[in-house]
Amino acid sequence: RPTCHIIVGMAGSGKTTYMAQLVRKLGSACYIINLDPAVTHLSYTPQIDIRDTVDYKKVMSEYNLGPNGAIVTSLNLFSTKFDEVLNILEKKVNGEIKHIIIDTPGQIESFTWSASGTIITSSLSTSFPTLMTYIIDTPKCSSPSTFMSNMLYACSMMYRSRLPMVVCFNKTDLVGSRVLIEWMDDYTKFMDAIDSEGGESYYNSLNRSLSMTLDRFYSTLKKCSVSGATGEGVEEYLERVEEGRVEFFEGFWKDMMTRR
Ligand code: GDP
Ligand code: MG
Repeated sequence: RPTCHIIVGMAGSGKTTYMAQLVRKLGSACYIINLDPAVTHLSYTPQIDIRDTVDYKKVMSEYNLGPNGAIVTSLNLFSTKFDEVLNILEKKVNGEIKHIIIDTPGQIESFTWSASGTIITSSLSTSFPTLMTYIIDTPKCSSPSTFMSNMLYACSMMYRSRLPMVVCFNKTDLVGSRVLIEWMDDYTKFMDAIDSEGGESYYNSLNRSLSMTLDRFYSTLKKCSVSGATGEGVEEYLERVEEGRVEFFEGFWKDMMTRR
């Protein structure tokens, strides 16, 4: 069965741009789903598009909602029909399709902290080997405290979904990810970075103790450096995905089978 990649990340981290690179690389070996109701331009052509089912602008005016409320409501409306998406996937997915890749709304919380996001994630993962692809804006993580916030988010998402996670340090055409990976591999280096950043001592000691807590989480993560702009790193990403797929069958899938 094909592997399902749910692409998540903060607004502007480069999910949609990275999706386009995956599409370019995988060609007809991938099936493409867009779950962002508010996107105006996509640099790839999805086979299933939430925008064909719900009109985000109409949802906004009909329910008197702001942009974020309308995104969540559109997702909710779409998730009530997600069984139809699964039916389509069952029919369309043949031997040639090895990957199902899914773009999510710009604002990460509208997917990861919503009931519909949970419904969509769990319906996919009970039908296909599924993993979370967490896109990180590498240039924005140059400050240790921003990096820490990003990793805490990743951690809570991974433990909530219980799915394997591949972290993609994106935009490495602008800034390399070596320093961030060093911080993950050796928390004393991270602590040195906090110290040299200076700032309030309470905040520093919070970040210090969090970094020790996250150490265990880091060791279970699969990570790679990519660029949605140049396509660099996509191959390495696909290798991490294969590892994640194995992990899915050994963990999530086994758990589900024994609970049946
Ligand atoms: P999304 O909200 O996560 O879907 O982010 P987008 O894919 O729409 O990208 C947000 C912005 O970051 C756009 O202006 C992109 O051109 C830019 N961007 C995305 N990926 C890269 C990258 O790998 N390198 C550079 N330099 N810019 C990128
Ligand atoms: Mg996007």
